Amino acid sequence: MITQQKRFLLFISLFMLYCYPAALASAGMTPPGYTLTLNFDLSTNTLAAKGEIEIPAGLEFALDLSEVNTTEASIQYSDGEKRGLDTSGPQVVLPRDDRSAILSFSYSKTVQKGESNLISERGISLLNNWYPLPSRPCLFTVYAQLPDGFSAITESDVFPLPTARNMAVGHFSKSTKRISFVAGPYQLDSLAVRDDLLIYTMFFPEDEDLAAGYLQAGARFINRYEKEIGPFPYKHYVVVANRLPTGFGLPTYTLLGQAVIRLPFITRTSLAHEIVHSWFGNAVNVDAQSGNWCEGLTTLLADQSLIPEPEKRAEIRKSSILRYQSYRPQDQAERAFSLADFRSASHRQPLAAYRRSVGYDKGAFFFHELRGFIGEERFSRGIQALYSQYRDKTASWSDIQTVFEEIAGISLESFFTGRLHMTELPVIAAKDISIDRRDGIRLHCVLEQQQQPPIPMVVPLEVETASATFKTSFLLETARQEISIELDDRPLSLTIDPEYDLLRSLVKEEIPPIWSRFLGSEKRLIVLGNASSKELYRPFLKAFSGEKTTVRLAEEMSNKELAEHDILFLGAADAACRSLFANACDGGENLRLEVRDNPLNPEYIAAIFSGNEPEHASSIARRLMHYGRYSLVEFNEGHTVTTEIAPSQKGIRYQLEHLPRGGATSSLSPFQQLIAEIAKHRVIYVGENHSSVADHQLQLQVVEALYQRDPHIALGMEMFPSSSQEALTDYTAVDSTMDEKTFLQQSGYFKVWQLDYRYYRDIINFARARHLPIVGLNIDQEIVANVYRNGSTDLLNEEQQKQMAPERDLDMPGYRQRLLEVYTRHAGGHNDQQFSGFIQAQALWDENMAEEITQFLRRHKDYKMVVLAGNQHTRKDSGIPPRVARRMNVKQASLINLLENPGSDRLDDVADYFFISEEKALPVPPRIGIVVESSGKEANGALLIKEISPHGKAGEAGLLEGDILLSVNDQTIEDIADLRIALLDVRAGDMAKVQVSRGAEGQQLVFEVELTAQP
Ligand SMILES: [Zn+2]
Repeated sequence: MITQQKRFLLFISLFMLYCYPAALASAGMTPPGYTLTLNFDLSTNTLAAKGEIEIPAGLEFALDLSEVNTTEASIQYSDGEKRGLDTSGPQVVLPRDDRSAILSFSYSKTVQKGESNLISERGISLLNNWYPLPSRPCLFTVYAQLPDGFSAITESDVFPLPTARNMAVGHFSKSTKRISFVAGPYQLDSLAVRDDLLIYTMFFPEDEDLAAGYLQAGARFINRYEKEIGPFPYKHYVVVANRLPTGFGLPTYTLLGQAVIRLPFITRTSLAHEIVHSWFGNAVNVDAQSGNWCEGLTTLLADQSLIPEPEKRAEIRKSSILRYQSYRPQDQAERAFSLADFRSASHRQPLAAYRRSVGYDKGAFFFHELRGFIGEERFSRGIQALYSQYRDKTASWSDIQTVFEEIAGISLESFFTGRLHMTELPVIAAKDISIDRRDGIRLHCVLEQQQQPPIPMVVPLEVETASATFKTSFLLETARQEISIELDDRPLSLTIDPEYDLLRSLVKEEIPPIWSRFLGSEKRLIVLGNASSKELYRPFLKAFSGEKTTVRLAEEMSNKELAEHDILFLGAADAACRSLFANACDGGENLRLEVRDNPLNPEYIAAIFSGNEPEHASSIARRLMHYGRYSLVEFNEGHTVTTEIAPSQKGIRYQLEHLPRGGATSSLSPFQQLIAEIAKHRVIYVGENHSSVADHQLQLQVVEALYQRDPHIALGMEMFPSSSQEALTDYTAVDSTMDEKTFLQQSGYFKVWQLDYRYYRDIINFARARHLPIVGLNIDQEIVANVYRNGSTDLLNEEQQKQMAPERDLDMPGYRQRLLEVYTRHAGGHNDQQFSGFIQAQALWDENMAEEITQFLRRHKDYKMVVLAGNQHTRKDSGIPPRVARRMNVKQASLINLLENPGSDRLDDVADYFFISEEKALPVPPRIGIVVESSGKEANGALLIKEISPHGKAGEAGLLEGDILLSVNDQTIEDIADLRIALLDVRAGDMAKVQVSRGAEGQQLVFEVELTAQP
């Protein structure tokens, strides 16, 4: 709704021009009378007019002729003197004179297409530069010879304008420099608001059916605001349709574009905004010198206050902070624009979006916070006093301060000054949170505001306790203040400002990925699918490119560039997009704009535009400017069908503790019953802590039990890469003759995995005996290492690039946060580039395993697969399972053993079934008592004995440092893996036959070494 409203507000820019002070009236002098007589030639789009201005004696006066074509001008003084005036210059200046005078002139004005004025058969709108502009406010009278069938409006005391023989006349007894004139083939309708006040619509005949809705809504708003503010300043109010796309609140009427009028939501809030401007902006003028306060006040009174639901009002306030933060420029000088600096609502000024956000959003917050600061009732009285004291006058910020200080009976100096001049948002935080249980339960903390200077504010706090939610607030006037809250129950969380009652800097968790972050970005990157999309998306490139935008083709993209920009993917199913968001890049039926966090750097966002009919995309480009507050927008045949904001935290939240979850032990099921359930799934993950014997035992138990029900079972194992597949296949084949040692050598088990083979031995032996296929799921470790090391996939060679699953999802809910925790735990510090590599590497790993699983299941339609992998990979929320689900529709179950994988209270995010198995350990392998050096020696087929351990019996047997190991128990040793294979089945007390080569001559010696147990 706000977006729609915002779109409407975008049209409002002119009304400020109508707010000049009625200086003369307040000085007690009659202002000049300015009479215009208008004639139109619709066929040539021309106005031919005569003007007459009565200038009182003693008044200096000037007339700006620069925008019209003046044909003649003369002046006649009260003593009869008359002379012609030179109209060749841009203005006529009349010095002060003791005599009163009448200035007469004729001029014409032809309106070109594309102007903000219009003179045509369809209608007349004269808003800007259509008559010689006076240097002082005047009392205007307009005579207009109307084309047949036209009716007219201008700022006037009486409405409808008295008209005789197509000559309409309007007179306005409030002095102004600027008036407007609008005429057309209008249909006039009206409704009495109360005695002496009518509301009208002037709509084109084709929109006649909308009139009743506008009259009723308008009357309702005027009634409401008369109660809130005071008597309506005029005797009539007219809602006028314009052929041009405008949205102006003018004295006595509002001029809305015809297309705008047809939008269904205008009668809900935007009309109210224009009506409120009758009081504030038109009746109470804005002092142009001291800053424009009336957009903020009007936005609060109309756009925000009319929304009945408090939570929606809070949402809108949050959106307005997000908008402000999105459009705020990086440059300090550009950014230094305070509420006091806001003058014009124009869209044409530099940094318009940012400055308008200052005026509207910060302005509305100013008054919202003032209401919170002095209280609802005083605030209402202040609003009424402002109107009654300044009606038909000009008010400045300091006048407003005085009015509210009188009502509140306190100084508001620091409240006003701080907020009007601050250019950075306050940063609020709670520090040193502690719970004191000595006498009841008290929560202590220090509230801080970190900007300079501190401003007085009422800080709302919410404490969630085990049994209820407790709300309170504290007045914070200094940079730090200790507070203490008495509670009835154990506090679980503390939240500052959960309903966005303060204009403040938002913390990271409060900021959802929304489209305005791209619109306001200074580092925009548009990624096009291919060269031909340049033509297809031209309107997008036109709307969103500029000096702050880089445009690239998908194939040219590097991770590095993606990580350093706010991205818009156009024609989105391209490789770069799919490597981050997998198939979120396909929009389907609708045209779809989805905004996500940029997974390579959450400081930035990535927006994906997609849809089956990109040719319709063009029409959407311009409209998208108005959907800044959303994370997802979908269009169907030009209509908006979906708008969503991604969830984000409400308020600055401090989690103090979680209450534990549990279950009834009576609901635990026996193993076979669980297996019966689990057997209904086609992919069964059994997560492991790699060095937990209990976990491997559970894996085997599950495989055996499932096999008993249906022998069509394959194992998918993280422990083997695809390059081991041939060995895996040979080893489990029906006619296999491969022995274990050969299998371990050929599969490269010890090179890739390195952990004790005995963890997996029983499982693999089971598969071998039953000829169950084993699928190596892992990706080439060199790829993972490369990506991790370089922080990106940019440096992989072509062969490696080909091995990667092209569709990778780096943006699963919670994925980044979880990996960040793992990363911080392992890597200690936090390095962004390294972390970016870590998240890429993890996703690559998970995606590749998902790809291998899916391919196997597609090829073997009658098989189930049991997947053995680390418990982070088997997580059902963000590990392999959702990535398989993306690729194929298949039932999956994820199992976990709680014995060695302590579940969090979010166990249901992690697994579908849990087991609690018996604890087990492997017998510790015995040792020879040597330390070997593997580095650099493998190349020439040798392992060097680097050290003889004092704890073993190698030294006793005669082995020396510097000996080169040739074989153990007749097994040739070329590397560590060979040594581990040779010692796989030995026990303490066994004698091992160790052959070495010694000395420069390479003397070959054999020793018998007794193996000893590890201490
Ligand atoms: Zn406004």
